[in-house]
Amino acid sequence: MTKRIHKCNSCQEYTMKEECSKCKSKTVLPKPPKFSLNDKYAHLRRKVKKKELTEKGLY
Ligand SMILES: [Zn+2]
Repeated sequence: MTKRIHKCNSCQEYTMKEECSKCKSKTVLPKPPKFSLNDKYAHLRRKVKKKELTEKGLY
């Protein structure tokens, strides 16, 4: 059984149902910020690497 988290755009509530329990409006499946997260980690990796090289006097 797959449980997908839906989000109500009206009250910013997360629910497992396709209908918001508060305002009864249709909920949507929020898209996970997959790419932005990858970009963030890649940026951090570069930053850490640069820092390591600087500390070793190699940069
Ligand atoms: Zn709602």
